[in-house]
Amino acid sequence: MKNLVIVGGGFAGLKLAKKLEKSMPEDWDIFLLSKTNFITYNPLLPEVIGASVLPSHVQAPLRLVLKRTRIRMVTVDRIDYDSQTVFYHNDQQGSLKFDQIVLSAGVQANTGMLPGLREHTLPLKTVGDALVIRNRIIERLEQATIHPDEKRREELITFVILGGGFSGVETAGELEDFLCSAQRYYKNVDKSKCQIILIHGNDRILPELSPKLSEVTHKNFEKRGIKVMLNERATRIDNEAVTLKSGELIRGATIICTIGTTPHPFMGNERLPLERGKIVTRPDMSVEGVDGVWAMGDCALVPNLKSGSYSPPTAQFADRQASRLAKNIVASLSGKETKPFSYQPQGMLASIGHNKPVAEIYGIRFTGLIGFMLWRGVYLLKVPTLARKVRLFLEWNWAMFFPPDIAHLGFKKSDDD
Ligand SMILES: Cc1cc2nc3c(=O)[nH]c(=O)nc-3n(C[C@H](O)[C@H](O)[C@H](O)COP(=O)(O)OP(=O)(O)OC[C@H]3O[C@@H](n4cnc5c(N)ncnc54)[C@H](O)[C@@H]3O)c2cc1C
Repeated sequence: MKNLVIVGGGFAGLKLAKKLEKSMPEDWDIFLLSKTNFITYNPLLPEVIGASVLPSHVQAPLRLVLKRTRIRMVTVDRIDYDSQTVFYHNDQQGSLKFDQIVLSAGVQANTGMLPGLREHTLPLKTVGDALVIRNRIIERLEQATIHPDEKRREELITFVILGGGFSGVETAGELEDFLCSAQRYYKNVDKSKCQIILIHGNDRILPELSPKLSEVTHKNFEKRGIKVMLNERATRIDNEAVTLKSGELIRGATIICTIGTTPHPFMGNERLPLERGKIVTRPDMSVEGVDGVWAMGDCALVPNLKSGSYSPPTAQFADRQASRLAKNIVASLSGKETKPFSYQPQGMLASIGHNKPVAEIYGIRFTGLIGFMLWRGVYLLKVPTLARKVRLFLEWNWAMFFPPDIAHLGFKKSDDD
């Protein structure tokens, strides 16, 4: 048997394994090495913060989806391309030989990009991050309820979000929804005093969408009291304070960071063609200079024939690259010609709270009820297994009619107090 190893069980890696299970020759074993034994639906993480869905509903265990693939829940530490060996660890060190390898490990939060970022902000990359943020928000409401000093109370209910891309905007919208529905349980906290400040480095939020939808979102936020600061950048973060490029100091007891990503350390290797830490691939996603190596998803710079530029780091592109790569791998093993990646995105969706997402499908803009149905429909289609689809559907409906979950989960062992 020969080994094909996929590193990373996210949007790209899981889709690739699913496709290869059907098309890979019988004399090949498929291994999937991933830090977690589940895929996380990152676009739904802001809804975990806003308690619109349960954390377990935005994850799907890899073993429920894959049958032929051998799954290993491990962290890859190093790859030796000469001896074609992957080195990893879980509770112990291990290694695995490969004949073909696909790198699809995504990226991680870059908490070192600004002074104070690591120490004083909350990143949003994983379900754990989303739960930590949700807990912090509830903790701040509880503290503001009993604090005697008015100025401190206002700081406690000021939430600063760095980054006006998908995750920053969706987090701001969900947070505002959550504060609105939670306020009746916090009588001493005046909702009109709660502040959400979104700081964005460019001249419009949601740059991934059309200018019109950015404008719609911006106006919606203004109406709801969410303050959007454009063309502003944080230059340093201190405990409960953000210093901006303009010199202004913003005080807020919760600072959420959705900016900055960096590749995983094991990707750094002089054998790979890297640009800003990402692997530059050939148009068919093979990697120049190393035989049997392929890369896709957020960790790679994959040229898109359709646009003539590199693919953006989105779930939609990771998914489509995986479908193309499955065909290319099978073709290359049987000596056939591979094809370049070429994809015209169908559209984009962003949930901005109040159950009113904004969407743009084939150039047509949707907001309100149609946008809402599209957003929910797309994710229900994407989430694997019928059981999870039903649970997510029920949970969304539940959240529309019943009060939010304001339980503060301690995440501590009982003897830690
Ligand atoms: C909060 C948030 C909101 C987003 N919203 C949207 C959106 O609305 N629309 C959109 O299109 N995109 C959105 N994205 C981006 C989208 O999630 C990514 O583009 C997509 O997940 C990329 O897929 P991937 O497979 O390359 O990486 P990922 O899905 O991140 O998967 C990477 C995998 O690699 C594994 N891994 C990492 N390091 C190692 C290691 N050392 N060893 C083994 N395994 C490892 C991880 O555990 C994970 O399973 C959002 C992202 C975030 C964080």
